[in-house]
Order: sequence, then C-alpha cells, then structure tokens
Amino acid sequence: MQPAQPTKSQSVEKSAGRTPVMRHDERCDRCGARAYVMTLHSGRALMWCSHHYNEHEEALREYLFIDAREALTVN
Ligand SMILES: [Zn+2]
Repeated sequence: MQPAQPTKSQSVEKSAGRTPVMRHDERCDRCGARAYVMTLHSGRALMWCSHHYNEHEEALREYLFIDAREALTVN
C-alpha cells in the first residue's frame, strides 16, 4: 500500500517576483463592462466583469489569475 498523496490539480504558474495587476482599462470580454477578474487559459487571458465571472465561477476558478474584485467596495 502506498500512502495517499494529495493530487494537485494544475495550478496557475505565477511569474516569480511579479505581482499581476489589473489595468484599469481592461474590459469584460462578454459585455464590455470594466473587468475585475483575469483568467489564463493556456497562456491566453480572458477578462471578466464580476457579474460574468460569478456566472461562470465554477468553471473558471481553476484558471483564475487575478481577482481584483476585493477592490470593489460596496457601500
Ligand atoms: Zn461582463
């Protein structure tokens, strides 16, 4: 019997020493609203507004690269 190893699903490779930042003029690829989330798919970036990211979050979570939604303050 081999000890059970935790299998890691593919994780996003982060470029060392660089903090990814959302540009303020990025737009959601679906609706053109301001984008707060970036996902990487085989090196290709997709932009999401919080509305559309929420809609597809389950499928997109493993591709998540930048999540700037916390910058959203709801008062
Ligand atoms: Zn959108």
